[in-house]
This record gives sequence, structure tokens and C-alpha cells, in this order.
Amino acid sequence: MSIPFPRSAISFIFSLVLMADLPLAADAPGPDSWQAGVASVVITPQEPMWMAGYAARDKPSEGTLQDLFAKALAIQDPDENRVVIVTMDLIGVLTELRENVAARVEESYGLPPAALMLNASHTHCGPEYRPRSGREEEARAYQAFLEETLVTLVGQALDQLAPADLACSRARAGFAMNRRLLTDRGYRIRPNPDGPVDHDVPVLTATDPRGDLRAVLFGYACHNTTLSFYQFCGDYAGYAQEYFEADHPGATALFVTGCGADQNPHPRREVKYAQQHGRTLATAVEAAVTANPQPLRGRLQYDLDTVLLDRAGGDQEPFPYPIQVFQFGDQLTLIALASEVVVDYSLRLKEELAGDALVWVAGYSNGYFGYIPSRRVLEEGGYEAGPWEPTVEDRIVDKVHEMVGELRK
Ligand SMILES: [Zn+2]
Repeated sequence: MSIPFPRSAISFIFSLVLMADLPLAADAPGPDSWQAGVASVVITPQEPMWMAGYAARDKPSEGTLQDLFAKALAIQDPDENRVVIVTMDLIGVLTELRENVAARVEESYGLPPAALMLNASHTHCGPEYRPRSGREEEARAYQAFLEETLVTLVGQALDQLAPADLACSRARAGFAMNRRLLTDRGYRIRPNPDGPVDHDVPVLTATDPRGDLRAVLFGYACHNTTLSFYQFCGDYAGYAQEYFEADHPGATALFVTGCGADQNPHPRREVKYAQQHGRTLATAVEAAVTANPQPLRGRLQYDLDTVLLDRAGGDQEPFPYPIQVFQFGDQLTLIALASEVVVDYSLRLKEELAGDALVWVAGYSNGYFGYIPSRRVLEEGGYEAGPWEPTVEDRIVDKVHEMVGELRK
């Protein structure tokens, strides 16, 4: 079996050449300013691979419609506290991948695991890198490639750290639709325009001293399931990043998946719809960038912890569920929840933690092991309603409150 190797080299912004010949404006950030660095790399398999996301697929991939990327945004506060956020056009962040990358990043660059966040777009048109019966070798080879690539990528983003103005803001986009509909056979996966949604588009920007946008990190709570064919593609999130970058030469756009476990894009099943949703989201990011951006000030703080979740049935060990919080001054609280989290979590946390700071709740971060339903979804039943005890929601929410409370002190 051939091993899928990626093509293309890592691309950088904040290049030394660019920064070296720039006179700093009078009000430019000094040496004690915030800094940002960003890097990206193509991670599209170069050979056919099994694709992730739909059990009904019966053959490997057949080419590439759009390249898949991993991207890293490094941020450093004036006290030299640093975090790195890695985003990937992939189905999820496997726990083993996360642990291996975090350990090597700490060893190579001194960045603590708590300061490293990995998020996956949950595209259903990317490679399956969980070992699959009969295709174990390609999954192992791809994960090994990914591990190596991500460690290098994080180092490149840290190397690119340079003075920057950081700001956060948000807008909205409306194509995510709740996908849990009550039928005469219980809750089924069907479009439900009356179900709960989270249409926020939170944005974090890094602008260089000359005023040029260098990086935009943006989020949306929705499955990347417009498409279900046999070509590699980032789906709507891939198009949103591609379009925003085309509109802003020199800027890198990074997508963070929110709590979209029970959200699907609509309409679906055609490339033109993935592109339309991508354009819609890119436009919302554009709106957020220009709508009352709040400059980040103060200190950057972070925490990574686990909370024990009880599995339904009770005869298995409790599961250590990872939760990560990045607190950017008084302006932004970024909460990274693991695996496929339903929308109730982001709606509840944003309401309960509302205050001066923008509250951004990501899912699909730092681990990928099935659905994380709310108490409501567990009681209603249906596709996303397993395999936890109803205490799961309060355990997670209470732990987030505890962590955020400590960081905001
Ligand atoms: Zn999913």
C-alpha cells in the first residue's frame, strides 16, 4: 500500500523580510506589545484514502476538490505568556495525536500542553485516520505525517511572532440549522428550523504595525456536512477560509468549530451550496472584523483540566473529559470543549458567563470520541443522545465556571 504524502511547503506570514523594512508608526506597538505569528501547511493526502464521517461510504477518495490545511496562530502577551491555536480541515482531533503533539511541542519549544489548543473543522470530506479494518496502514501513516507536520507548524508560528494589535468581535451567519426533528418515530436527523441554534461568528484578528490584517481566527457552530462525495474538500469552512484569504492577500484565515454537533448546514449535497455557505461565513467574518473590534489588553492566561464524566450503564470507569480555557485580558474568554458538543452548551455558557468579555465556546477540540449531549438531548433521545449519564451537562458546565472563575480573578 502506498503511503499518502502531502505536497506543498509551509507558508508563512510575518516574514522577516516583510517586517525588517517596515518603519514603525509613531503609535506602533513597542517591545512590550502583544505579538502574533501564523503558519499554514497543506495536509491533503496525496494518495487515495478512506474518508471520514459517513459510514455509508464504500470506496476510498477519488481526488481533491479543495486542499485541506492545518494552520497555527501563536499569540504572546506583553509578559511573554504564549498560546498556540491549531486548526485543521479534518474530522476530529484524536486523543493520541493531541497527546503526542503536545508532548513534542513542550519538549521542542517549551510551550506547556495547557497553552496548546487543537481544533478540527469536522469536515466529512477529509481522510479517516482512525485505524479502519483492512486499512490500518494508511491511517497510521497519515497520523504519523500529521504529528510531524503539526509539531513543525507550531514551531513556525512561534518563530513568526512579531508585534501585532489583537482585537475580538463578532457577527452572525444563518445557514446552520438544528438537525433534530421530533417525528412519530422519535427524534430523527431532519432539518428543524424551530430548534436551537448558535449563529454567532466570533472573530479574533491580528494586525501588523502597518495596519495590515495578518490573521483572522473565526468560529461557527455547524457540521461541515454540506458535501458527502468522494473528493477531499474543506466544505463550507474550507471555502470561507479560502474566500477570506483571497479577499485579504497576506492574511491567513483559521476556522474553529463551535458546538455544532446537532447543527447541519442547509441546503446541502451540492458543491455550490458549500461555496455559498463559505461566502456567507466569509462575509460574516468581514462584518465582524469591521464591527466594533475590541482591542485585547492586559494579560493572557490559560488552563487545561479534565472533569470525570459517568458513562450510561455505570459499569465503566468515569471518562476524563478535557476542558481548556484561554483568557485574553478582560476582552475575550475562549473555552475549548472536546469532541462533538451540542449547541445547548455554547448557548448556556455564553448566557451564564456573559459580562464585559466576549465568550467564545469551541467544540471539537483536543479530543474526538463521540457526541457530548446536553441533559435535554439525553432526555429527548435520538442520534446524538449517548452514551453518558444525564449529569454530563452540569459536570462540564460547573467545571468551566470553576476554571473561568480562576482565570478571571
Ligand atoms: Zn459529527
